[in-house]
Amino acid sequence: VDPNGVTWAKAPCRFCGTGCHVQVGTRSGKVVSIAGDAKAEVNRGLACVKGYHVGLILYGKDRLTQPLLKQGDRHVPISWERAIDVIAQRIMADPKSFAFYGSGQWTIPEGYAAQKFMKGGLSNNHIDPNARLCMASAVTGFVSTYGVDEPAGTFTDIDKADVVICWGNNPAEMHPVLFSRLIDRRARGEKITLIDIGTRRTRTTDHAQHYLEFKPHTDTAIVNGIAHLLIKNGTWDKEFVEKFCNFRAPSDPPTLNGKAITFEEYKKFVEPYTPEYVEELSDVPAADIRLLGELFGRRDLKITSLWCMGVNQHTQGTAMNQMLHGIHFLSGHFGKPGDSPTSLTGQPSACGTVREVGTLAHALPGGRVVADEQHRKDAEDIWNVKPGSIDPKPGYHTVLMWEKFSTPKEQGGDISTIWVQVTNPGQTLPNLNKLFHPSRKLKDKFLIVSDVYPTATTKDADLILPSALWVEKNGMTGNSERRTQQWFKMVEPPGQARDDVWQTLAVARRLFDLGHPGMKDRDGNFIFDMKDESGKSVPVWDFRRFYDVNVDEQLFNEYRKFTPYKHKNLAPYQEYVKARGLRWPVVEQSDGSWRETQFRFTEFDDPFVKKGAGIQFYHSVTKDDRAQIWFNPYMPPPESPDADYPLWLCTGRVIEHWHSGTMTMRVGPLRRSMPQAYVEVNRDDAQKLGIRDGEVVVVESRRGSVELPVWIDGRGKPPKGSVFVPFFDERIMINNVTLDAHDPFSKQPDYKKCAVRLRRK
Ligand code: SF4
Repeated sequence: VDPNGVTWAKAPCRFCGTGCHVQVGTRSGKVVSIAGDAKAEVNRGLACVKGYHVGLILYGKDRLTQPLLKQGDRHVPISWERAIDVIAQRIMADPKSFAFYGSGQWTIPEGYAAQKFMKGGLSNNHIDPNARLCMASAVTGFVSTYGVDEPAGTFTDIDKADVVICWGNNPAEMHPVLFSRLIDRRARGEKITLIDIGTRRTRTTDHAQHYLEFKPHTDTAIVNGIAHLLIKNGTWDKEFVEKFCNFRAPSDPPTLNGKAITFEEYKKFVEPYTPEYVEELSDVPAADIRLLGELFGRRDLKITSLWCMGVNQHTQGTAMNQMLHGIHFLSGHFGKPGDSPTSLTGQPSACGTVREVGTLAHALPGGRVVADEQHRKDAEDIWNVKPGSIDPKPGYHTVLMWEKFSTPKEQGGDISTIWVQVTNPGQTLPNLNKLFHPSRKLKDKFLIVSDVYPTATTKDADLILPSALWVEKNGMTGNSERRTQQWFKMVEPPGQARDDVWQTLAVARRLFDLGHPGMKDRDGNFIFDMKDESGKSVPVWDFRRFYDVNVDEQLFNEYRKFTPYKHKNLAPYQEYVKARGLRWPVVEQSDGSWRETQFRFTEFDDPFVKKGAGIQFYHSVTKDDRAQIWFNPYMPPPESPDADYPLWLCTGRVIEHWHSGTMTMRVGPLRRSMPQAYVEVNRDDAQKLGIRDGEVVVVESRRGSVELPVWIDGRGKPPKGSVFVPFFDERIMINNVTLDAHDPFSKQPDYKKCAVRLRRK
């Protein structure tokens, strides 16, 4: 408590996957101040413009404060008792047609509770998170390359690298504090080269020594061009590759693990990708491809690659992820501080909750999958649910789930109820006219939404549940660098708002009371039985007594049992209370302390690597401790500009707003600095079309249209023939226009490119 009566406590920022810590100041039951946390290694006292304003997200005037049920055209207040009952009755009536749609903004205990409720309790795998839309291709890339998900390196690599390459991402706006670590090094006089490879200039480009602009979708050709040069010039790292790698290529029919090939075959595959051929495909000058080839060929430099949505939201997203790891292996730029291929996540717990807890439709906690009998048995034993409870068939991934929800039952639309938590699919799903809007016209479809504010999704929801936000509840998240973070509740949520763990457990408890067999464990007890300090069960209906126990800690302790299997070991809950996050694997030392890991698979830092191995990919898909170097051919995009729709559309984010703007558009300073969406148009295109700055135009595709004011050149300067629209503004639904084509393995849609035209109104 400071002299002004303000109590300060730590919490990770609510927004991006950088995972900065802030100090939260509270007084008289309100958050009154935010400061960067100097003790946090990630941000070292800094925050970005969103982070400094994070406290204000709690205080928008239109917070949802009571459950609301749709009756006719209106939403009318109902009690929690009734709301819980409505959900339970829908599930009891048709358990298999129920689906849960969650988020990379779920806390770890929230995602874990939802996962156990669905897969262990309801024997229903139709649970998928919005992270399917942002980093699923990174997961399939890691799994098929290393045999296990998530980066080997950490943010520490950015402090050590000589060269940082951004592949189709814009960290200056999307991971600003992380980016500032790089810029700070320059300010201190360190020499660091930044290469920006993208389809439009951004604020990241402003700081780059080299900007390589490629024709959308041709990044696979660029990577193959680098591999071609490494082999042709003899600068590939023969020793590293022979010791630690195998080669793979797509199989027929295609599978995630493809087929084994020899080095000679790989060499033959990349042979056609000469700098001149890559220039032909990508428009990147051959000289720039040679520059990349030369850099990767140098062993005296340390190279870190960073990527995010540009690579992941791609119909060849898995392939691009595999190949980025591959050029680091082929060139030996791996396994030393600063030499690392690192994918970034957009949401604060895309890693902690989605990837580690395993809330994807095919997954189970700790890197397990529903299709594996032993994995199912492990989960059933830890959950103490009846053997055979978990369905071996993966559930519907996001695109399929919403397609089934938007299709009449008699035409195969076998999802009739979806419960949405912590996300806004009515704005963020691609191709909304196919995947979202039709469901709102079908009588037997029932949409439940837990949220903190009215959104594009709550607008037409059948049942709205008011949720607690950020420091109105206990929480844990996991950022992009495997760092698990914890915070305590600091203020009360408004009105009757409840946290999402409580909501899930309340429905589970009602199902138990109604006699649903899946809600009973092997001993006949409720599967989420919570205990107070004396070991007595706590009824989840009783709000006051429920909050007397730390539900997060109890759920985390159970979840932690899953984590050693894939060497994602976590420390006890109390270690996270003390720390500003710890990067797994976290292993107990002989003196009783807990040590985190910066560089996985390396003998010098990873406790699970055998002595003398140097590098060991101990979850190798080929079971020989080696990683896979993939070849994937360049393939054309699912849709390209043509005579009718002559422009590329790219969608994305801006620094001021968080995703669909639900929180940040209610923060005055952020809303005022970026009040509405726009379409960035290249000056030459604007001239050709006779369009003026600020004029409202129609952006239309084969799927839908939207009206937007024009910003000539804009913040990002799109190249000729291409436009950019941010998706934060719920008044301008750009996803009426985007495409739902997706990667065949990750099922992640491509929001970064489709064909549109501009029309004057
Ligand atoms: Fe929050 Fe991300 Fe900004 Fe850090 S960089 S303060 S985590 S929004």
